[in-house]
Amino acid sequence: MPENNKTIEYDALIIGGGIAGGEAALNLANVGYKVLIVEKDLSIGGKMILLSKVFPTLDCSACITTPKVSEIMRHPNITVFTSTQASNIIKKDDGTFEATITKQPRYVIAEDCTGCQLCEQACPVSVDDQFQYNLVGRKAAYIPFSIASPRIAAIDIANCTLCGACERACPTKCIDFTQTVETYSLKAKTVIIATGFQLFDPTLIPRYGYGKFKNVITAMQMERQLAPTRPFNTILRPSDGKMPDNIAYILCTGSRDKTVGNPICSQVCCMYSTKQAQLLMGALPMADITLYYLNIRAFGKGFNEFYAQAQAMGVQFTKGKVAKITEKENGNLLLRYEDINGGGVVKETEHDMVVLSVGILPNQGIAELFSNDELVLDPYNYIGQSDFLASPAQTSIKGVFVAGVASGPMDIPDSILSAGSASSDAANYIRHLNKKTVSV
Ligand SMILES: Cc1cc2nc3c(=O)[nH]c(=O)nc-3n(C[C@H](O)[C@H](O)[C@H](O)COP(=O)(O)OP(=O)(O)OC[C@H]3O[C@@H](n4cnc5c(N)ncnc54)[C@H](O)[C@@H]3O)c2cc1C
Ligand code: SF4
Ligand code: SF4
Repeated sequence: MPENNKTIEYDALIIGGGIAGGEAALNLANVGYKVLIVEKDLSIGGKMILLSKVFPTLDCSACITTPKVSEIMRHPNITVFTSTQASNIIKKDDGTFEATITKQPRYVIAEDCTGCQLCEQACPVSVDDQFQYNLVGRKAAYIPFSIASPRIAAIDIANCTLCGACERACPTKCIDFTQTVETYSLKAKTVIIATGFQLFDPTLIPRYGYGKFKNVITAMQMERQLAPTRPFNTILRPSDGKMPDNIAYILCTGSRDKTVGNPICSQVCCMYSTKQAQLLMGALPMADITLYYLNIRAFGKGFNEFYAQAQAMGVQFTKGKVAKITEKENGNLLLRYEDINGGGVVKETEHDMVVLSVGILPNQGIAELFSNDELVLDPYNYIGQSDFLASPAQTSIKGVFVAGVASGPMDIPDSILSAGSASSDAANYIRHLNKKTVSV
């Protein structure tokens, strides 16, 4: 591990360790380049490692992600810094880059932690578990989730009472409250931005009652309930722990909606909702599932067949705009909607659980990471692609490339393709820089 304030050198800096950043790192590392991934969370794998299965094949998401993630962690040409951010990225006259890398303390000596979880069992503090999207609690001393990589404990210092119970329980004595922030000065030849996305905050549409009505949840919360690393062994509605038998999905929650500032299509919600509906029919064979949609966008390979498969299984697709949700005393929910195919009549239906198919939004603050050159964003605040048709990974700064959802909504196969494009452009840039044949 490098010392504090040390200068470190890599061929490529990759910001974000989701599937796009990870794929780009492997591509570059496999042709001999030295790569540093900086990931702001405690684990790499991004959203994909937390999903249930993937459309349209229904392959297990964790089973695809975990071998990749462990290849990344073990690759001799890849270094991963978690709980870390890059800032003050400066492009030099010779076409190379310098950046400040800031690594937050984990308060656990990574090399000595065996992941035994004894600290977790001993810790008396319980807070919402962000990796389970607040469906359950976790301790202040915790392993982020069972397939986290690295699988090392961390202390959530903001909620820790410094009671010392974890230190006493730890068999390898690796909890270290003296750890401080580490900073490094990085030199790199190229930068790939793979910072992915954030989810739309459904409290911005108060008429759907998210945060107020317990049985209104988000699709990411449903992903966690359906995932192999799920918090409980079945699907439960939050208000009373009952297994739901009539679930509604509201598509386009926070997408294609100017009133909430996001006029574009999130590209994945139609298909992830169709996927979840099929998985729910397996998990709850007696349940009725209705998807309220405006248009079903099944544009990708195998998507239309996947949509037809859901219809054949008995999933109800209702074309209708849901205007409002109200809660009944028993926790059930009344949906008031315009039945578009039924002549525009306003109807009301009752469901015992509602899933909001929340949209995708860009992460904020990425352009501000660059100090002397402007990283241009597109009109929706995703990273701008300066030559979208001919070289989709190229940004406004030569030598800086974009991979995955950082450039706009897309699914996993497209994120992987986009990482291929970014890594191939980055490898070319490094090669020309080494031969001094690039105009910088
Ligand atoms: C509910 C839901 C279900 C889905 N189901 C499917 C499916 O079945 N099939 C499918 O193909 N797609 C699905 N998707 C889409 C899929 O999640 C994305 O295509 C994929 O995760 C994109 O990967 P990414 O690496 O670009 O972004 P992310 O997964 O968001 O990864 C980005 C990473 O960058 C890190 N990061 C962000 N900012 C910084 C920073 N400043 N510094 C350091 N690190 C940073 C993040 O912590 C994260 O680890 C689904 C999406 C949702 C919301
Ligand atoms: S010192 Fe903090 S993390 Fe450790 S057991 Fe006590 S509250 Fe939990
Ligand atoms: S910090 Fe100690 S007790 Fe906690 S998981 Fe690591 S080795 Fe086990």
